[in-house]
Amino acid sequence: MSSVHRAGTIKEQIYSNNGKQTRDLQRGVPHATTIDSNPIPFTLVFILLNMLRQRNSDSDSSTSSISNGSPTNSSPIACDSAKEEFARKVFCARRAFVTVQFGGAYIEKLILTTKQRLANGFPTIVDGKVHLEPTEFQMGRMMVYTKRDFRRTCLRCNQNFKVSRDGIQPLSSAPVCSDGEKLLHFHVHDQLALETVRDFKFAPKVNKINAHTSNELFGLDVEMVFTARGQSVGRVTLVSHTEAVLLDVLVQQTDDVFDPVTRYSGLTHERLARATWTLDQARRAVLNEINEKSVLVGHGLNSDLKALGIIHNRVIDTSVIYTNAGRRPSLRHLTEHLLGYKIQQNSSGHCSVEDAVAAVRLVIHGVNVPRFLAPEYQNLHMNI
Ligand SMILES: [Zn+2]
Repeated sequence: MSSVHRAGTIKEQIYSNNGKQTRDLQRGVPHATTIDSNPIPFTLVFILLNMLRQRNSDSDSSTSSISNGSPTNSSPIACDSAKEEFARKVFCARRAFVTVQFGGAYIEKLILTTKQRLANGFPTIVDGKVHLEPTEFQMGRMMVYTKRDFRRTCLRCNQNFKVSRDGIQPLSSAPVCSDGEKLLHFHVHDQLALETVRDFKFAPKVNKINAHTSNELFGLDVEMVFTARGQSVGRVTLVSHTEAVLLDVLVQQTDDVFDPVTRYSGLTHERLARATWTLDQARRAVLNEINEKSVLVGHGLNSDLKALGIIHNRVIDTSVIYTNAGRRPSLRHLTEHLLGYKIQQNSSGHCSVEDAVAAVRLVIHGVNVPRFLAPEYQNLHMNI
């Protein structure tokens, strides 16, 4: 058990229906419809403290807390607010009066080990060096290239191809690749330059200002586009465990955008043209919201952290903790079947706020109902 976490430490969110909250205070356990066996006992004092805390964080959620000195378009980017609001209502209705228990010791059990981070393609420090290993889905391709290496491997067709000496891939006059629906005049890759990897950054150490973010959950989602230099970050979203949008920004592209991958990213050439943030500014803004003890949550989070250039040791990946018989369920599938609402329905692309929130909710759901987690996590409530 971590010295930071005490068994029975609980943070809570109450999803109330009809604006009314009820609790069984005599039993000290909130009314719960989906909580698994062994709910954590807690005291009335703790309930009141957390209600106060919840109220404070609710009031915080109406404002974006982007740090000073950042670019101007800091307000959350609208996705499909009507759809999102509907999904939120469905979620809340289904989970009326359910107290979400952030049992610290439970959360600890879901955090990936160093071995898991390496196996799942997370940038990881081993013996003082950054390691970036291909996952089983990346078919053994090298993830890092050196200055004099102009070969790249396409992540769609797995062919090797060459780029110019400055790392740029010219558009081919003839189709060379396919996304399964249409022929493409370029390949795509997610490999990184060695010097980029060496410049990866860490969250700050715990200090007086950021101490409150220790052990907190943060949902992170990054949308990518394909450029002449390979995969590139187009949008960065960070949400808190109370679902406040802390950061949601579009990132400027420094190379020609071959494909904004609108169907997945929700980004278009027009939207990207309005971007005012650099990748480094977006990365610094993420790191400003957390510390080294914070817990980052996402689905396939390895690619988000790799693209952003962040190394973080305390991560929970919903694609890993919900792995079933060796298969990784999609975020969309998990959200529909476990949380009871649909996401990624929009043909104009995913909403990264929606995805980041879903990942946080799925971790909370896993803590409450571990029987749907991968087998190794199903005893989450035991031996605490
Ligand atoms: Zn290709």
